[in-house]
Amino acid sequence: VKIDHVKKVFNVRGNEVVALNGVDLEIKENEFVCVVGPSGCGKSTLLNIIAGLDVPSSGNVLLDGNPIDGPGTERGVVFQQYALFPWLTVEKNIAFGLKLRGMKREDVQKETAKYLDIVGLSSFAKSYPKELSGGMKQRVAIARAYAVNPEVLLMDEPFGALDAQTRTQLQSELLQTWEREQKTCFFITHDVEEAIILAQRVVIMSARPGRIKEIVEVNIPYP
Ligand code: ADP
Ligand code: ADP
Repeated sequence: VKIDHVKKVFNVRGNEVVALNGVDLEIKENEFVCVVGPSGCGKSTLLNIIAGLDVPSSGNVLLDGNPIDGPGTERGVVFQQYALFPWLTVEKNIAFGLKLRGMKREDVQKETAKYLDIVGLSSFAKSYPKELSGGMKQRVAIARAYAVNPEVLLMDEPFGALDAQTRTQLQSELLQTWEREQKTCFFITHDVEEAIILAQRVVIMSARPGRIKEIVEVNIPYP
């Protein structure tokens, strides 16, 4: 992912709010990048632009050299509040994106079962989201994002709503999944410790005015 001079200005009741003021960043294939910074520094805006859910006011975002034009299946997104379909069972939540891609029924079943197993929720296939704990719901959301085999996973504070113990558990599970599946990950957090545990590179943003302050290489070996 190549982010090139990206600016984003919101117009809030006649006032200009500069969310991003010239961001340059290149995320390499299979790299795990965490973005940290204070509330309001533009982290979510940057993720939404890469996701194609928002458009920059100026500058470009390229994926494999192609400009990003709206959401696409090569980018999976995980949000803080799970965003599962409440009317679908766990397995149907995961199968949803696969069916949308026109995958054959047997393959949908196979892939769904594989990712349910990876996140340790095989026995909850027929459960509904409301029957699951927060940690389990986020496991389903991560399984759903991984199942469609995106090139890039975009995660916006995915563990922000979880208690400390569950968060630690999901961090290590996510690392294991990342090592197994080798995916490019762009992960937002306001928790510096979380960033250091997960990332190969930590991007530090500053609030005024929505810029990258520093990029730190983290050289801690993975467990
Ligand atoms: P972070 O994720 O780092 O907390 P955001 O990207 O959410 O920061 O926000 C960056 C700035 O842009 C903030 O000042 C925020 O109020 C503003 N902003 C974000 N989204 C919108 C929006 N849809 N409309 C207006 N202002 C917005
Ligand atoms: P929370 O996110 O609400 O803190 P957790 O995800 O830690 O909750 O799990 C809450 C309960 O669900 C615990 O009793 C835990 O043992 C159980 N649980 C979590 N994940 C699984 C799983 N994969 N299989 C079976 N039980 C689980």
